[in-house]
Amino acid sequence: PHKMSPEEEEVLLSEEDEEEALSARPVQIVVAHEDDHAFELDEAALERILLQEHVRDLNVVVVSVAGAFRKGKSFLLDFMLRFMYNQTSCSWLGGHEEPLTGFTWRGGCERETTGILAWSEVFVVDKPDGSKVAVLLIDTQGAFDSQSTIKDCATLFALSTMTSSVQLFTEYGRLALEEIYEKPFQTLMFLIRDWSYPYEHSYGLEGGKSFLEKRLQVKQNQHEELQNVRKHIHSCFSNIGCFLLPHPGLKVATNPNFDGRLTDIDDDFKTELVNLVPILLSPENLVEKEIGGSKVTCRDLVQYFKAYMKIYQG
Ligand code: GDP
Ligand code: MG
Repeated sequence: PHKMSPEEEEVLLSEEDEEEALSARPVQIVVAHEDDHAFELDEAALERILLQEHVRDLNVVVVSVAGAFRKGKSFLLDFMLRFMYNQTSCSWLGGHEEPLTGFTWRGGCERETTGILAWSEVFVVDKPDGSKVAVLLIDTQGAFDSQSTIKDCATLFALSTMTSSVQLFTEYGRLALEEIYEKPFQTLMFLIRDWSYPYEHSYGLEGGKSFLEKRLQVKQNQHEELQNVRKHIHSCFSNIGCFLLPHPGLKVATNPNFDGRLTDIDDDFKTELVNLVPILLSPENLVEKEIGGSKVTCRDLVQYFKAYMKIYQG
């Protein structure tokens, strides 16, 4: 039989790598079973992603977007992917007529699976201090409807919060602090979409900050539980932010044929998107996941995922 020369082997390998890159896709790593309220970790899927040789020993940055069904998480994640794939280009937002792809999002109101999805490609990024980190993007979808209990939802978000360094919580036009649960974490960014009071609090991070401060005030006439959420939230996260995004335009919100192309998205929205994504993902802003004060590698994260799953099942 023909023995392959090292050059031939190299060609084969790079073809494999290429295939891997082409087939980058969202992979469900935690499945929520509605019938028996059980959560299941797909360990093999998680390991295939995090134990890849070129990333497993790097410190990991886990950026997770969480929220209920149809809050525009996939839409946002697809732009985050564009940024990750085109970091060096100032036109990372993409071509005007280019449909959005990635964490496939869609219109309509059918239910989708709840659970946690990860992007199969882990990005390796050079930080300004010379270190290399691995960036994992995660989509966490809970269901705030009659089919799932508040507890299921809390469990899912707690799980994604425990395992991420930066969590983005998407919500439309309001901020429901009732839906936040306590645990000690790193960065929490509320993303308020369809913000329609820019004259009260301007779009972006600054307006978000003043809005959040107002919403986090503890008032005498509030229900005790709501007071407690407000008091606790600061002790749970070392960094809390809020970003106000304008409405993306009627085509995005209502046209069933909208495929994500930039020409169909309002300019105000695109302007703010260009501000938001680098705040989360540019190399100098990447926050490495820490547990108990120590940085965590991709390999460690696999173990933590398994341990946390056990806690929630027990
Ligand atoms: P997901 O279920 O949270 O992943 O939501 P999707 O990303 O699939 O988006 C659900 C629908 O909301 C799609 O039709 C999007 O075009 C639309 N959408 C995305 N972002 C926004 C937004 O900021 N505001 C509004 N009103 N609609 C949005
Ligand atoms: Mg989605």
